Amino acid sequence: MTSYDLVLARGRVIDPETGLDAVRDVGITGGVIRAVSGRPLAGTTRVDVSGLVVSPGFIDLHSHSMDVAGHRLQALDGVTTVLELEAGAYPVAAAYRRAEIEGRPLNYGFATSWAVARMAVLLGLETGGGLDDFLANVGREEWQRAATQGAVDAIVGMLERDLSDGALGIGILVGYAPRIDPSEYLAVAALAARAGLPTYTHARELVEMDPGTPIDGAEEIVRAAAETGAHMHYCHVNSTSIRHVDRVLGLVEKVRAEGSRVTTEAYPYGAGMTGVGAAFLAPELLHRRGLTPHSIGLLGAEGRIADAETLRGVRETEPGSAAFVHLLDEDDPAEFAFIQRALTFTDAAVATDAVPLLWRSGTPDPLSWPLARDAVTHPRTAGTYGRTLRRLVRENGVMSLAEAVRRCTLVPADVVGSGVPAMRRKGRVQVGCDADLTVFDPETVSDRATYTETARPSAGFVHVLVGGDFVVRDEHLLPAAMPGRPVRS
Ligand SMILES: [Zn+2]
Repeated sequence: MTSYDLVLARGRVIDPETGLDAVRDVGITGGVIRAVSGRPLAGTTRVDVSGLVVSPGFIDLHSHSMDVAGHRLQALDGVTTVLELEAGAYPVAAAYRRAEIEGRPLNYGFATSWAVARMAVLLGLETGGGLDDFLANVGREEWQRAATQGAVDAIVGMLERDLSDGALGIGILVGYAPRIDPSEYLAVAALAARAGLPTYTHARELVEMDPGTPIDGAEEIVRAAAETGAHMHYCHVNSTSIRHVDRVLGLVEKVRAEGSRVTTEAYPYGAGMTGVGAAFLAPELLHRRGLTPHSIGLLGAEGRIADAETLRGVRETEPGSAAFVHLLDEDDPAEFAFIQRALTFTDAAVATDAVPLLWRSGTPDPLSWPLARDAVTHPRTAGTYGRTLRRLVRENGVMSLAEAVRRCTLVPADVVGSGVPAMRRKGRVQVGCDADLTVFDPETVSDRATYTETARPSAGFVHVLVGGDFVVRDEHLLPAAMPGRPVRS
């Protein structure tokens, strides 16, 4: 009888692609799933997971928390692959190199970054592949200005080189430079179409929020899909649409019916987070989103911003500082319904928009575990998946468990997989697929992070395996585990 390195025995295996939802043994050897069987399998190590769900590992399309500490918090939330696709990284090779040298608990990957390439051209910036390049310059007007044809050509050329260097697509933070000419956006989408890779957009303003916008943010995305044939992915449709989510999703539905490829994602929180210097947080623009300075709180500081004067001051002195933006009250069922509609939209992925941890002491300590007490983040970094399973499945009953699992696994695998063959071996519990697996208790799985205890790990994720290696075992993170591998196009 064949013996496997590891057998997860008698778990409830959910495989969204085949529709399997039954008690099975899963046999793993060499980091790959070798057997999924109704009969008992023999293994060098046999772990009884009866009463627990065995799911493909969760795939996060939208994480900015790419260091070891961020990976560990996400591992405890069921994640096995973290991808930085919206902001992206430029140059992408530098981002991969850093992760490879330092080691990562989870699989990782990057899109190239339109915003950082634009900063490099318009600000003459030397860029190192980290998010800090973007955060340090986000508030500067010069990178947001209209570009000459020559500059656009230079930016597109840089992105093209990064795509052939393994980038998973193009991240387009157009919402941070919302006055650029729509033709530049179309040129970037056309490049993606030629390369056969998706784009990932943080949309610019909706007309409801800025009647003077050069183009409606949602129209721009769907139009690019129709006109260029590119696969356009619409990032965190909850936080950029807020109360206009039905109109936005209606547009997406319409172009999909006409044959365009537009995919979406959402996260189950009412507060966004961004650099306080972002264009749309200017005091005179807040009313467009129904906000006031008091809707904003700086990460790591007590309370909210008092008035417009204070806001102007912090935007001036520390534009890269992370700030909570309370868009919707997630404890009010009527307001949570807007978020829920984004999450339950046809084929929407669950994605976190995880933000980098910040150490209040000023001394980053990403390698120590447990996390230092002064480490803070947005609760979505630690709790998005536990919260989705708790609120949408268990409490509100708007989604079956199998459907929620699909939106955390197969759906994101297929978004990236449209141009990246390696992703077709993820998001699935099938023979020949990567042994990235999440084992959780459907009765107790839950988020525990809050806006005050921002970095509390989720509960109920019992085992998390990356390429067949335990990163979480018996609900405990294994600090020595660094099995993460790069995902490249
Ligand atoms: Zn964003």
